[in-house]
Amino acid sequence: MKGYIHSIETFGTVDGPGIRYVVFMQGCPLRCKYCHNPDTWQMNTGQQMEVEEVLKGFYNNQSFYKDGGVTVTGGEPLMQIEFVTELFKYLKQHQVHTALDTSGITFSEKTKEKFDELIKYTDLVLLDIKHIDPKGHVELTQQKLDPVLAFARYLSDHQIPVWIRHVVVYDITYKEEYLYQLGLFLGTLNNVKAIDVLPYHTMGIVKYQQMNLEYPLKDTKETSKDDALQARNIVLKGYRESRRNRM
Ligand code: SF4
Repeated sequence: MKGYIHSIETFGTVDGPGIRYVVFMQGCPLRCKYCHNPDTWQMNTGQQMEVEEVLKGFYNNQSFYKDGGVTVTGGEPLMQIEFVTELFKYLKQHQVHTALDTSGITFSEKTKEKFDELIKYTDLVLLDIKHIDPKGHVELTQQKLDPVLAFARYLSDHQIPVWIRHVVVYDITYKEEYLYQLGLFLGTLNNVKAIDVLPYHTMGIVKYQQMNLEYPLKDTKETSKDDALQARNIVLKGYRESRRNRM
């Protein structure tokens, strides 16, 4: 089976534990206003590669990744779930740590069987929750929030460890009520190992210019590190409150 690959990074340090071989899959149904990889959006383009071809660079330097592993990101890797499953299955047969960076957007009752297969070979999910408010989620990404939260619950039910990722953008997600609400939701899960609250940055603008696309957040300034830290504290407050209520 071949997958559509956007690119491969051989020295990833933020997409899971240790040093990682990071595979960027092509194709994404979301249109996050702050996306810094609009060149990954289009489906069925990029380089078509077999699992063995994708992993060639990994096996050339395998000792390098001994405390890390392989992360699949995008784009939205779940758009090619069969390929990711084959890739992860192969890696698990060779005792390599696997991480999936996703928004969970394709999860549904109809697709659940495919997820049941995928999670057998998935050690960690980096789950991007873009916005905790349903209306805000649609405005920010052009997609519904429900599948994302259903996927988060599904991972919790199956005890798959997750690192949560949330980008804070002034006037969009940087609001106390949303951050607290996000924390309350996360507190209902049983598998959260880390919560990363990331400041919005404008590094993607160049790509929009190159692709002749209008940048949707051109009037929004970058989030400061201090404010991102502050935002994380509010999420944690909600998280702790939620955990307390469960006791
Ligand atoms: S999910 Fe990721 S790749 Fe897709 S639009 Fe959002 S930020 Fe961009």
